[in-house]
Amino acid sequence: MLRLSEIKLPLNHTENDLPEAILRTLKISAQELLGFNIYKRSYDARKKGNIMLIYQLDIELSDSVEKRILETTPALPRVGPSPDTNYKFVAQAATEFPASNQQRPIIIGFGPCGILAALVLAQMGLKPIVVERGREVRQRTQDTWGFWRKRKLDSDSNVQFGEGGAGTFSDGKLWSQVKDRRHLGRKVLKEFVIAGAPEEILTESRPHIGTFKLVTMVENMRAEIIRLGGEIRFEQKVDSILRENHGEADSESHGQITGITLSSGETLHSRHIILAIGHSARDSFQMLYDQGVYIEAKPFSIGFRIEHPQSTIDRARFGQQAGHPILGAAEYKLVHHCKSGRSVYSFCMCPGGTVVAATSEEGRVVTNGMSQYSRNERNANAAIVVGISPEQDFPDHPLAGIDLQRKLEIIGL
Ligand SMILES: Cc1cc2nc3c(=O)[nH]c(=O)nc-3n(C[C@H](O)[C@H](O)[C@H](O)COP(=O)(O)OP(=O)(O)OC[C@H]3O[C@@H](n4cnc5c(N)ncnc54)[C@H](O)[C@@H]3O)c2cc1C
Repeated sequence: MLRLSEIKLPLNHTENDLPEAILRTLKISAQELLGFNIYKRSYDARKKGNIMLIYQLDIELSDSVEKRILETTPALPRVGPSPDTNYKFVAQAATEFPASNQQRPIIIGFGPCGILAALVLAQMGLKPIVVERGREVRQRTQDTWGFWRKRKLDSDSNVQFGEGGAGTFSDGKLWSQVKDRRHLGRKVLKEFVIAGAPEEILTESRPHIGTFKLVTMVENMRAEIIRLGGEIRFEQKVDSILRENHGEADSESHGQITGITLSSGETLHSRHIILAIGHSARDSFQMLYDQGVYIEAKPFSIGFRIEHPQSTIDRARFGQQAGHPILGAAEYKLVHHCKSGRSVYSFCMCPGGTVVAATSEEGRVVTNGMSQYSRNERNANAAIVVGISPEQDFPDHPLAGIDLQRKLEIIGL
């Protein structure tokens, strides 16, 4: 299989244009082309009057034709062997695993990180136990709508906490700017499709799912983890972690992790614990810090959300082609580099979405953006943020960034 990149065709090209472009680019005959798949499709809308679709394709050829083409690679820099994007498990448990419950890995938190960790461990036969402070996703959906409609906050089941984690009520944007040389993102997208996501997420360059579909997918992934022998416990908050030499005066002697205690008072023992608690569980960060776990402050961004009519953004980006079904609701990205050295930029732009209240603490306000799969709400919204750093802005303490967040989030500030 060969990967062919940067095949550019006009937005309204015909079905035949794609194979013809392949034959032209690879200089092969129609008989030599055995088949092809679209690996990724994106668009270039820099020229509104001439929007182009850009394809990355996997091309099926006989070995001899493939060899011939690769020998001419210097002349065809956009061609190379298709990479192996299959996920490789690092281990597989023996059939009699576990000899005792204490060998099972524990995952704290059932957001995207916890779900994928639990799924992969379950697929390796390691029968993980997940503990999640919030409720199951359907119940959580009711709690969250209760907050939006009646301002009744449940501090353990809300936009941030509960099955699916932060972002279950979200735009469901599925791309990242992180380099992915091991194709781990592909594994995630494939699992999402198995769980019910539309297949197009495998080929769109900026795939998204939308809130309603996410809820069903999260339920399906939970069912698969349980089918493989995993266990998921909701409404169980981890209150402390246990380590060897626990309680000894010399904190330096605290060693290997041995288990956790839950808010119910129950203790679970394991030497393999994954903390997948996200970036909102401030009380849990404090708990870990108080227990002597090394914590380092990291830079983050703060700002506000802006909204404007989606039709304005569509026209500005796509001109006459606004509303074209392939293009969907338009996105934008803005950045301004200030003389002070700081940069202000748009982040988490939600086309055709809604601004939602997303706090998990009483008396505070945090906003975020969410949309449905169709992205057909009237307005677009985006965060406009500035990067801040521990060195410049909150140097006092590893958790000082949280103090700053809390100050900024007070209602009526
Ligand atoms: C409204 C909204 C929209 C977003 N939209 C997008 C988007 O479109 N695309 C995107 O890439 N990102 C989006 N994000 C960000 C994204 O949701 C997060 O980056 C992602 O959820 C982080 O995943 P995580 O698993 O690390 O943590 P989280 O999703 O935060 O999950 C952590 C889980 O741990 C649980 N937990 C915490 N402490 C404990 C404890 N002590 N005991 C037991 N359980 C605990 C929590 O209840 C939570 O369910 C959005 C976020 C929000 C809030």
